[in-house]
Amino acid sequence: MRSNLAGPRLLLRRLREVMAEPITAQERLDKIVVLIASNVVAEVCSVYILRADGVLELYATEGLNREAVHNASLRVGQGLVGLIAAEARPLNLPNASAHPGFTYLPETGEEAYNSFLGVPILRAGRTLGVLVVQNQSHRTYLEDEVEALQTTAMVIAEMVAAGELEAISQKATGLDLSRPITSTGTGLSEGVGLGHVVLHEPRVVITNLIAEDTDSESARLDGAINRLRLSIDDLLASGEIAATGEHREVLEAYRMFAYDRGWIRKIEEAIRNGLTAEAAVEKVQSDTRARMLRQTDPYLRERLHDLDDLAHRLIRELMGREHGPGHDELPQDAIIVGRNMGAAELLDYGRDRIRGLVLEEGGPTSHVTIVARALGIPMVGLVHDIVGLADGGDAIIVDGDTGEVHLRPATDLENAYAEKVRFRARRQAQYRRLRNKPSVTKDGVEFSLQMNAGLLVDLPHLAESGAAGVGLFRTELQFMVASSFPRMREQQAQYSQVLDEANGKPVTFRSLDIGGDKVLPYLRSIQEENPAMGWRALRLGLDRPGLLRTQIRALLHAAAGRELKLMFPMVAEVREFLQAKALVNKEIRHLRRHGHQTPDNIRLGVMIEVPSLLFQLEELMFHVDFVSVGSNDLFQFFCAVDRGNTRVADRFDTLSVGFLRALKSIVDAAHKAHVPVTLCGELAGRPLEAMALIGLGYRDLSMSPASLGPVKAMLRTLDAGRLSARILPRLEPGHGDSNIRDVLKRFAADMDVAL
Ligand code: PEP
Ligand code: MG
Repeated sequence: MRSNLAGPRLLLRRLREVMAEPITAQERLDKIVVLIASNVVAEVCSVYILRADGVLELYATEGLNREAVHNASLRVGQGLVGLIAAEARPLNLPNASAHPGFTYLPETGEEAYNSFLGVPILRAGRTLGVLVVQNQSHRTYLEDEVEALQTTAMVIAEMVAAGELEAISQKATGLDLSRPITSTGTGLSEGVGLGHVVLHEPRVVITNLIAEDTDSESARLDGAINRLRLSIDDLLASGEIAATGEHREVLEAYRMFAYDRGWIRKIEEAIRNGLTAEAAVEKVQSDTRARMLRQTDPYLRERLHDLDDLAHRLIRELMGREHGPGHDELPQDAIIVGRNMGAAELLDYGRDRIRGLVLEEGGPTSHVTIVARALGIPMVGLVHDIVGLADGGDAIIVDGDTGEVHLRPATDLENAYAEKVRFRARRQAQYRRLRNKPSVTKDGVEFSLQMNAGLLVDLPHLAESGAAGVGLFRTELQFMVASSFPRMREQQAQYSQVLDEANGKPVTFRSLDIGGDKVLPYLRSIQEENPAMGWRALRLGLDRPGLLRTQIRALLHAAAGRELKLMFPMVAEVREFLQAKALVNKEIRHLRRHGHQTPDNIRLGVMIEVPSLLFQLEELMFHVDFVSVGSNDLFQFFCAVDRGNTRVADRFDTLSVGFLRALKSIVDAAHKAHVPVTLCGELAGRPLEAMALIGLGYRDLSMSPASLGPVKAMLRTLDAGRLSARILPRLEPGHGDSNIRDVLKRFAADMDVAL
């Protein structure tokens, strides 16, 4: 195919010379448009750059009225240029004025031109401007002319990204690349973080775009693709990942793309047109990204992520870069932005420099969320396209309370947030002062406030928060963050370290609560219609006693010579507890027979989180040493509302009369049988709800470390006797329609309770 183009490679060579000249950015753009116009033999070549106010400003032109430069502008979506920016795809028209989107800009004097070719100026799939050529004759531009224009657009995109064009805009609005953006995702870990973006998988900045020697670039590409394929094949064959499951699916998708001839052919073509191998990968990826971002099909968007990852790997392979910044390269106020990451990767960053975490994926129960919460890192998940919008070093605010993320925030917003952070810090300092004060109400009722934990990183909170002990240690978290099943010795080491660090304060371990939504990547999971009510927790433990026995043995070893408190989750019948207890006793006999030391004191309990136990309370209390109410699950099953489904989770009030009566029946039965009772669900950590529990008669609560301060502040200003007198009559028949939440709020206001 012949074209009147002097050859894209020649154009690129000339472009490279222009880029190297010591001239201003405006002069460079002016030279670029002249160069293109002469190469494509077009009468007009113009560059439009997208400003932060959504307007495309004419930045340079050859052929149109010079006076229009920095004066003529179009909105995104307006005219052909605006259409290209809106849709991020080229337009190639022999008769432009016949197109329904055509708008005539009188200041440019473009009425004489018929044919029109425009391409978006793209970076990481984001439109930064539009590059256009026009001719008087009715012609259709050839494919290699489109290619040449796209490649030039890529060079201009790098000028925008390098900040060279910001200062020459007519308006002081700045360019789109630096526009403030607010996105709303889901708050996953509370708190507010202000800082600067660190991309979890940073885009490598390609400075060398134009090839000197096409053959050697092709050879570099071949080598890098071979290494990439080998590394994926190795990973798939290594057996390190489970034979099925999400990890494997992602790798299989990588492999599919890495062997995809169409993808590689496009990259080779871009090299033949004069780009370096890495610039060619980036160009093809940017085009693909722009095309696929228009897709709404979640499957295709997911594949786009895979393809993005693979392209980045290939670029790193070509440029010999390791991925991810090293710890010392992190700014002091790093906010990590990524598509997704494993819990271990977050731990690798180290806590000291991280102020927040923003992910495009992530959910309330994903492992990285659990670790972020444990580390007290504000986190927002499910933020659409944030990786494409953010650049390393951008200012950013993460609000884990509201789920908002502010990228490149305006100064007043930043100031407002800085004030919010200071306010929180002052409140935290107040709570810290309460740390060593007794947990006693105004009328002298003593409480035990404990904390929930699940990882070793939680343990320092025990001293910092002044908690009386660990009321719930979720042992499954160690299993969830591990890459393979923790062996007996590893479990034992963790449990004994927990007991060491608790330094004599009581710790209540809960046996593995896996299954349901708590999935272990290395444990083959079975498909269940209703996993929350499926084969999980103690059910799985009793059916696969090997697992439970190993854990019990690890706990018995770890607590040798000390006290062991252990409770079992998801018990629905007293019989299940008795079976578990029999397993523990058998293990104790086994250890003693082999001369091992066992714990001095063993107390076994049950979590009350399945409503069936409400009708077996007397028998249950007879057999157990203690009980702990798991109000999260108990409420979920009590009201039949999936706790993870945001559509229904908040539909019913946890302070409704029915549920409060259920909670009261538990505390009454426990007191009657002289069995210690704790409540360790999220209810205990919310001051108003904790107040209700106190009114019902609960004296022992366990909550996340961050909740201890607010709950203690409430309790120390409360008269528990008067509170009970106020709310208990409301639970009697005849008052069944009371709104207890309002009653509590009024009581707190009347009595100056610190909520
Ligand atoms: C509960 O269900 O209330 C509970 C404390 O356990 P988890 O949240 O781990 O299910
Ligand atoms: Mg539970």
